[in-house]
Amino acid sequence: MRPIFVCGLLCCQLFAQPARRDADFALRIKEWTTKPEFLSPLVDHLPVIAGVPSPKDVLGYHIGTPKKLATSAQMLAYFRALEKSSPRVKILYVGKTDEGRDCWTVAIADEVTIRRLDDYKAMLAKLADPRRVNPADLDALLGQAKPIYHVTGGLHSSETGPPDMLMELGYRIVAEDGPLFDSIRKNLIVFLTPVLEPDGRDRYVAWYNQFKINEENEDDRLPGPPYWGKYIYHDNNRDMHYSQITMRNWLAAYLEWHPPIIHDLHESVPFLYTFSGQPPHNPNLDPILYAELPWFANFEMTKMIGYGMPGVWTHAFVDMWSAGYLGFMSSNHNGMLRMYEVYGNGGANTMKRKVDSAEGTDRFGASTRQWFRPLPAYKDVEWSFRNNINYGQTGVLTALELAAGNARTILDNFYKKSLHSIEAGKNEAPYAFIIPDNQHDMTRVAWLVNTLRLQGIEIGRSEADSSFIIKRDQPYGRLAKSLLEKQVYPDPNLRTYDDTGWTMGLLSQVEVKTSNDKAILATKTTPVDRFQPKGQITGTGSLMAVHHNGAHGLATLRYRLGKSIKVEALEAVHEGIPAGSLLLEASPRAKALVEELGLRATLLAARPPVAIHEVDLPRLAMYSTWGNTQEVGWVRHAFDQVEIPFDLIFKDRVRQGSLRRDFDVILIPNQGRTAKGLVFDLESKGRPLPYQGGYGESNDITGGMGLEGALELQKFVKEGGLLITLASASNFPVEYGIAGQIDASRPTSQFYAPGPIVEVDILQPKHPIFYGYTSPKLAVRYANGPILNVPEKDRKQQVLMQFPGTEASVLSGFLKGTSEIRNKPALVSVPSGLGRVLMFATNPCYRWQNHGEFALLFNAIQHFNDWK
Ligand SMILES: [Zn+2]
Repeated sequence: MRPIFVCGLLCCQLFAQPARRDADFALRIKEWTTKPEFLSPLVDHLPVIAGVPSPKDVLGYHIGTPKKLATSAQMLAYFRALEKSSPRVKILYVGKTDEGRDCWTVAIADEVTIRRLDDYKAMLAKLADPRRVNPADLDALLGQAKPIYHVTGGLHSSETGPPDMLMELGYRIVAEDGPLFDSIRKNLIVFLTPVLEPDGRDRYVAWYNQFKINEENEDDRLPGPPYWGKYIYHDNNRDMHYSQITMRNWLAAYLEWHPPIIHDLHESVPFLYTFSGQPPHNPNLDPILYAELPWFANFEMTKMIGYGMPGVWTHAFVDMWSAGYLGFMSSNHNGMLRMYEVYGNGGANTMKRKVDSAEGTDRFGASTRQWFRPLPAYKDVEWSFRNNINYGQTGVLTALELAAGNARTILDNFYKKSLHSIEAGKNEAPYAFIIPDNQHDMTRVAWLVNTLRLQGIEIGRSEADSSFIIKRDQPYGRLAKSLLEKQVYPDPNLRTYDDTGWTMGLLSQVEVKTSNDKAILATKTTPVDRFQPKGQITGTGSLMAVHHNGAHGLATLRYRLGKSIKVEALEAVHEGIPAGSLLLEASPRAKALVEELGLRATLLAARPPVAIHEVDLPRLAMYSTWGNTQEVGWVRHAFDQVEIPFDLIFKDRVRQGSLRRDFDVILIPNQGRTAKGLVFDLESKGRPLPYQGGYGESNDITGGMGLEGALELQKFVKEGGLLITLASASNFPVEYGIAGQIDASRPTSQFYAPGPIVEVDILQPKHPIFYGYTSPKLAVRYANGPILNVPEKDRKQQVLMQFPGTEASVLSGFLKGTSEIRNKPALVSVPSGLGRVLMFATNPCYRWQNHGEFALLFNAIQHFNDWK
């Protein structure tokens, strides 16, 4: 048994002596590393310190042992043991996940720094807000403060190396001596978050142990589990508005600690790609950042190539356009997002990999020599889990070396970037964004205001007219600009990794004005912490008309009241009460709900003299494939938030048939890149692949609904059901003959629509789907296809919305080839037998962003049997 480490007494003696090294570790690591050049002198050994547990002392095995992946609880247990034994470690708990697991970060530095962690936190908070720094004190502050360098892993659950690696790295930074480690501990505060998505990590490890642990061949690999987090898969890195609880925890922790650097570790291209901020560039980010990124990347390349490690490169992969990646919380707040992609096998197995294959891992030419890749990756390689750990850990240590040697520059730049943001707001229009009060739906105003507040953006309420004013002369003024302005794509010849448009006002149908008048900076405002609009009830009478103003709360109200309460809808406007408004008895409960949900209602003595129909709620199912649960997840999340209940159904239920007996509406969210993909889904590998890990279960998730399933969905429609398909899922009813004469085609290869916001024309404004919309034009989020073609004779009846397809109709972001969608349908309703198919060419429920479109879907569902 090792003696317990007692700091005050032993640490000086302990670290003064040359550390013993773990001979078994060195031997094993050499054995598990498939080529000598895949190892570096930084990680080929491990010190042994009496009383300080190495990962093996807690886990029972060395990091990088084939077929061993730690769960999030094991990782936390390890760091708890490390914290208990060393004054250089402190664990920070930052909240719980959807499934109740801990979100946590480990702070590591020298003893004195850890003891004074709150002092350093306060210093960074000051540097993050130069308004709080007296210029005379800046020099002293920069001399005292220390940068937090935050290394994160495990956001993407199939990218298995970084979480394990960070345990070894944590131990190494605590336990190893020598100038490099002394400098890291003295000059930096290292934050390690091994697992950003604990729910997904544990689901993945369980699945790996059950199905993937014996995989030997690259081509025989099974897919991962159908879910990572509760709703979202890979898009947890695209949750721009922090809709997911876990991601919100990390944002709150960021705004508490202000780490000038976040370094997010991923896995994909061989062997190690280090991000340096390629064009297209988000112009709101500081030029200093664009200098810092290649500074780090080139240093890492220089060191690692010096160690003889091939395949370390930068440039030519991920660009700097979208502001929505999780780690961008750093860049967006005047820090620095750094990112790696390390080569991984999706588990902890060793296997031969074809880097130079057509299938994709070399899409970015990792095995070719370029100016930014002087020592390329190999075309064929036997790759191990330990190789991945060696690369990731060597890279991060190299980055820490650079950061520790330049701590003051990093802090100075962090301060300057924050200062520049304030100055930009004082000197460059627009000087402010204004969100007027009294918009017809204040609940979406609240969503916008509160989402900006989550990001730490300061908002004031005008004392003159109670509009919300976001002055730009604040540390996060440039972030506000980035989120609220129209995105102007800089170069039509450039490609980008994600969306090009995200203008919040457009996507949520909230009016946001820009002010180019500098005087607005002097406007008197009261700070807004959170905005909660109160409902308004006017008039007298025993009936109540709840105005349809597009608020999602209308659906919440209807569902909370329940099916036993009679609710009707006005089909036409009546004395200022819009069409689609809900008519019900003005019970105390209904009134209380209107107040709580921020809705508007008029009390009436008598039924309005317009056509009225009953809002009798449908039995709703949402269909999910097993191979593509993510887009369904975003819709599930939105429906859960709005409290619209549904049955989540999969292929087994569809194949069983009798769908019409159980459901009135079946919604198929965007999934499956083709109709065939939606129908046949995951390819069977010859044996059943069962899943029981939550959010659905099946004895075999492979095979898809098949033709039997497609036939059952066709029957469902013929027998009177409503089938709703979103975006690419709209290929399915077209290609499987459920949608009459309609055809779907794909855009040409010249067409490029990376998530712009475009305008559509509403052709049938009186249709119940458009309740709550007042303009004949609507801004929608768009991406590639499908292009729907409706026979000329049916267009007038069946096309509800269409794309003008002009250059002017691209409202934000980038679309190349607008003429390909000119006058093409955006929303089509087609009768089929006794039922109907409603097909969206777009995705009206996208990543919790396009709140202005959600109501189309909610209207279609609530009024399912009252329209054609
Ligand atoms: Zn990733």
